[in-house]
Amino acid sequence: MIPFLDLKAINAAHRSELIDAFARVLDSGWYILGNEGKRFESAFAQYCATQHCVGVSNGLDALHLILRAYGIGAGDEVIVPSNTYIATWLAATYAGATPIPVEPRLDTYNIDPTLIEAAITPRTKAIIAVHLYGQPADMDPIMAIAEKHKLKVIEDAAQAHGALYKGRKVGSLGHAAGFSFYPGKNLGALGDAGAVATNDAELAEKVRVLTNYGSKVKYHNEVKGFNCRLDELQAALLSAKLPYLDSETKRRKEIAAKYSEGLKGLPLVLPVIIEGAESAWHLFVIQSQNRDELQMQLTERGIGTMIHYPIPPHKQSAYIEFVGMHLPISEQIHRNVLSLPIGPTVTDEEVEQVISAIKTQLR
Ligand SMILES: *Cc1c(COP(=O)(O)O)cnc(C)c1O
Repeated sequence: MIPFLDLKAINAAHRSELIDAFARVLDSGWYILGNEGKRFESAFAQYCATQHCVGVSNGLDALHLILRAYGIGAGDEVIVPSNTYIATWLAATYAGATPIPVEPRLDTYNIDPTLIEAAITPRTKAIIAVHLYGQPADMDPIMAIAEKHKLKVIEDAAQAHGALYKGRKVGSLGHAAGFSFYPGKNLGALGDAGAVATNDAELAEKVRVLTNYGSKVKYHNEVKGFNCRLDELQAALLSAKLPYLDSETKRRKEIAAKYSEGLKGLPLVLPVIIEGAESAWHLFVIQSQNRDELQMQLTERGIGTMIHYPIPPHKQSAYIEFVGMHLPISEQIHRNVLSLPIGPTVTDEEVEQVISAIKTQLR
């Protein structure tokens, strides 16, 4: 059996440090908004090379609160990739704005910068650039378009902790970035958690106020806020894991290289990384014309795979208002993609097994 993702093994590698962190928080008697949160925020800001980091409850709230803090809401439009996890769209919807989908490149899966300008209207306020599957979106042309049209660029870095674009860390490339520490992400908490990273001090402060009922001073509420705080326990657990993130990403990179080499020449589309980008390899995604058959065969051989994602946001019942919209590139991606097992605890032997199972099936 090769599981798609072995969270138990991933966290077992940090067992004693996680238990120490838990004990420290337990014994502190202080569980919300304290030193653990501050410590993680400053470590993660440093990791992202940004001046500010605000811990929040999850990745969706990170994106939603950034939009709110920028004053984006009803009547506004936010450009989003058509090919992303639905949370990117929900952030715009939560803020009261309308998500406007733009198609991705078929080879990189990320938003196609050459298609963005055609989607801009007088109502457009922001672009959410998703670094999908761990690969940075092509940020230079996106930032140039945003500057020309005076738009905010929000990075959805939920899948890309530590990925590099032209030597710079994701999270520091746009005006603000949302991160998720959902357990399955490259840096995962033992529950829900997220963060906003930014060099915009005013934005960071506004997000912080919004996370805490709209209050800076206890029982004084300047705006109608939310309860979207990162708790001390998750912050402490994340602080214990953060120092190992780069070595875990390095292992993901090795696995990706082995897959790319071993699967060459088969009737599959392999991941394409753009010039100057270094993926965090959250997922290793291939495309196959016979995706469902391939997945079934791998399942029979005890190899876990996943589809990211089976239904694009514009085809979900939740977004019934987009019914009838045709986004052929995104639809093709959703029909053909398959994610292979990748993670810091996947062994060389397991990678070889996956490669040989795919070869047997496709030859
Ligand atoms: C996971 C994810 C989110 C949402 O993060 P949560 O912490 O689960 O709310 C947003 N965008 C993308 C691309 C994601 O993969």
